[in-house]
Amino acid sequence: MSNVQHYRIGQLIIGDGSPPQQDVVLTVEGERIVAVDAGASVAATLPYTDLRPYTVTPGLIDAHTHVMAAGDPGRSAWSAIYYEELIGETTLKALHRAQASLRMGFTTLRDLGSRDYIDVAVRNAINAGLFAGPRLFVCGVPLTSTGGHFDRIVRIPGVDMAGRTGIGDSPAGVREAARYQIKMGADLIKIAVDGRRRNSYTTEAVTHQEMSFAEIQAAVEVAEWAGVHVAAHSDGGSVPMRDGVRAGVRTIEHIQDLSAEDADFLAASDAYLVPTLTATYNTVAAGAYASGVSNEQYSFSEENWQAKRRGMAQALRAGVKIALGTDAGYANCRHGESAKELLLLVETGMSPLQALTAATGTAAAAIGQAHTLGTVTPGKLADFVVVDGDPLADIGILTHPDKIVQVYKGGVLQ
Ligand SMILES: [Zn+2]
Repeated sequence: MSNVQHYRIGQLIIGDGSPPQQDVVLTVEGERIVAVDAGASVAATLPYTDLRPYTVTPGLIDAHTHVMAAGDPGRSAWSAIYYEELIGETTLKALHRAQASLRMGFTTLRDLGSRDYIDVAVRNAINAGLFAGPRLFVCGVPLTSTGGHFDRIVRIPGVDMAGRTGIGDSPAGVREAARYQIKMGADLIKIAVDGRRRNSYTTEAVTHQEMSFAEIQAAVEVAEWAGVHVAAHSDGGSVPMRDGVRAGVRTIEHIQDLSAEDADFLAASDAYLVPTLTATYNTVAAGAYASGVSNEQYSFSEENWQAKRRGMAQALRAGVKIALGTDAGYANCRHGESAKELLLLVETGMSPLQALTAATGTAAAAIGQAHTLGTVTPGKLADFVVVDGDPLADIGILTHPDKIVQVYKGGVLQ
């Protein structure tokens, strides 16, 4: 029996930013796409799966998730994962959350920070074929300086936080921490070049540089030797962001207020911006009470949202390469709701086609998988989503579970 399948598609979104194609036949052999042809010319002679009522997009990619966390509001919820939950329990829940993304058409997640390598465990179990789930690219424990953005604060004498394998306070320390992530199975290295002080929230600018240029360089060097890339948390400090990019960081995560000068700098570099609009927007939208944060922190998020809008305008004006990422798992960001980021990308100035490109072709390039993922083109893995309706007319339909008709991963219906 042949393992070649044909799908006749009403509208195909390629994922590279090109205009959609109408009536095409997609041919998949095994796990790969082998041809995309005009439907009318070939369909008459072929047995095909009729998807003519639907739009097909490439499998969607969320380039910034945390499967270890549910997205419960408030910082204590995140801490509870460390203090109160069994690692095995967290791991099973993480798998469940990853599956929620897959059902909504997100066939790939880049997971940017977890405790005790549960991200590695979930990825391995999915890759072994034991469970349905998206492709996961994971960083293990993020690298940070002592007291830095990812160094969890514990003030109990004699007690230290689990997962301090990510701490590095010198180039040698960072190198050791990066090597440890690779040893444990990381697909990339996550660092914090700057961050908000962990012990306070204020409306004042409190973003500090947390890694020196030499320390960032050390992380990038180890990553390059291992054939992986570096993602950097940056809340928007101009100097640390630029240090990261100059040192060779591939993706810049978050950024609150991107200045015109920094947008031009980013656009001229090889780096990608992952704006995580959902993380900021959801905390504002939930309101102070429902989002489980203090009034001070709430107004901080509201300011962040206005800053993000300004930053996105600068990024789009300058032509910064933007990849979709949500921060799912962070407060108020639920797994399975990543498509909301598409809505917010459109609300902050992208066209629906641009937003879909950010979630497919550009995201694949950002995470170093452009050779296998991100577009419906011959040679790529056959990850695609069958959508009831036209997301180019209404991007919001991708947030509705009943509009996601089918999800294929590696040619297999999920
Ligand atoms: Zn994050």
